[in-house]
Amino acid sequence: MYDVAIIGAGVSGGFVARELSRYNLKIIVLEKETDVSCGTTKANSAIIHAGYDPEENTLMARLNSEANPMFDRICEELDVPFKRNGSLVVAYDEQQKAHIETLYQRGLNNGIDKMKLLGRNELRKREPNINPDATGALLAETAGIIDPMLLTISLIENAVANGCELKLSYTVTGISKKDNFFRISGEGEQDIETRYVINAAGVFADVIHNMAAAPDFRILPRRGQYFVLDKSEGSIINSVIFPCPDKDGKGILITPTVHGNILLGPSSDNLEDPEDLITTAELLDKTRLGVRKLIPSVTTRNSIRTFAGMRAQPDTGDFIIREAPGTKGFFDLAGIKSPGLSAAPASALYLISLMEKSGLELKQKEVFNPRVERKLFLERPEIEQKKLLKENPLYGRIVCRCESITEGDILDAIHRPAGAMTLDAVKRRCRPGMGRCQGGFCGPKVQEILARELGRSWEEIMLEKKHSYILTGRTK
Ligand SMILES: Cc1cc2nc3c(=O)[nH]c(=O)nc-3n(C[C@H](O)[C@H](O)[C@H](O)COP(=O)(O)OP(=O)(O)OC[C@H]3O[C@@H](n4cnc5c(N)ncnc54)[C@H](O)[C@@H]3O)c2cc1C
Repeated sequence: MYDVAIIGAGVSGGFVARELSRYNLKIIVLEKETDVSCGTTKANSAIIHAGYDPEENTLMARLNSEANPMFDRICEELDVPFKRNGSLVVAYDEQQKAHIETLYQRGLNNGIDKMKLLGRNELRKREPNINPDATGALLAETAGIIDPMLLTISLIENAVANGCELKLSYTVTGISKKDNFFRISGEGEQDIETRYVINAAGVFADVIHNMAAAPDFRILPRRGQYFVLDKSEGSIINSVIFPCPDKDGKGILITPTVHGNILLGPSSDNLEDPEDLITTAELLDKTRLGVRKLIPSVTTRNSIRTFAGMRAQPDTGDFIIREAPGTKGFFDLAGIKSPGLSAAPASALYLISLMEKSGLELKQKEVFNPRVERKLFLERPEIEQKKLLKENPLYGRIVCRCESITEGDILDAIHRPAGAMTLDAVKRRCRPGMGRCQGGFCGPKVQEILARELGRSWEEIMLEKKHSYILTGRTK
């Protein structure tokens, strides 16, 4: 019998798991994919928003503004790259200028500080490549950029190191309520019994909710498509740059990533299928043209990848964080659309406060280690590199030349708590395959290392999902 079962190992489930692992509780995280951070958390703009955008008096506004200042400490504890490079919303005419003034006022109402309305010259000083037609911008200095995948991996790793269990490849298919506990069943898996359930299932949160409680919301999938540009384009901008928002949301933006690439996107297409993550020439083209309005010199000639992420738009408009009406002990962390990443630490604390009110006893553990250490070999000071090389000469063998990743880094990614078992899981942890060649050179080598370290054949090593075979057998 568990105290708490968390369904979904995205950033929402990750923060809750880590927070709850501070207490004397038996916790399990259930995730249908072969790794953590495989849902919306792996495909978004990776921005920690300042908090001026959500409408006043919504949960989104409150939790975004509460969470933003928490990221410095969290990222320091979890060794996750995070940079407060500020964001700009650019205006081109009087109407848009009035709109950014409204955003500024909304930011003040939401309690956001360090915002400023910039004129044309100040804007150009900050962003020399901005469209010369831009007349001004709203600057929010507290906005930043992060690696959401590494953040979630570190959260779950830290939770696991503090006693939480993680069950991957466990697709929840049913939840039934017994007297004072729930029985969760999973596809081809053993049932799990738990006193509390947290539904953090992203685009499937309505499906999970309906297994345990009366249906009262729907998740409407909305896809966003992106280009990733090579690091050679990395200096074209300094801040996150948005156009003036419209009825479809924050619009197509351009942002640096914490690893030195540039992201262009996202498009906004409403879909029926929450797993339809293909990219399309038509919408990518719209993205490219949209970004050119902000930075005319940007080109997609140096695009190294395109990808799509799925927004979990709730039909209620706001985040749905509550004990489900009529089902005591079952909690929704649902409808976590943007700014869900930015709000996630505060959302977790809010949810846990609701659970406590509902009867969950929170007794601090005597020992809780909040820290994760995950420096790559070449990020370490020379003295540490020398020591590591003595302990394991594989730190001296470069496997990924684009990102300068050593075999020692890859071994570390495989053997850490909640370690990598697929090619993409290694990529998310230490970046082989993220560079210009996109794994063309290092992919087979990483596959060989995974097979050797996990005691499997090459054919058994998947790209990411179950049955995503890379090799199916010998031809010669
Ligand atoms: C295009 C786009 C851009 C965005 N940009 C930003 C941004 O810049 N800043 C920001 O703050 N937010 C942004 N967001 C929003 C942010 O990405 C999300 O709010 C956040 O990632 C949601 O995390 P989550 O953990 O709730 O969901 P997810 O990451 O989707 O996690 C849910 C998990 O549940 C698992 N699951 C589902 N069903 C089951 C089941 N039956 N059994 C077991 N497991 C299951 C899934 O596999 C998944 O891993 C953006 C979103 C999109 C799509």
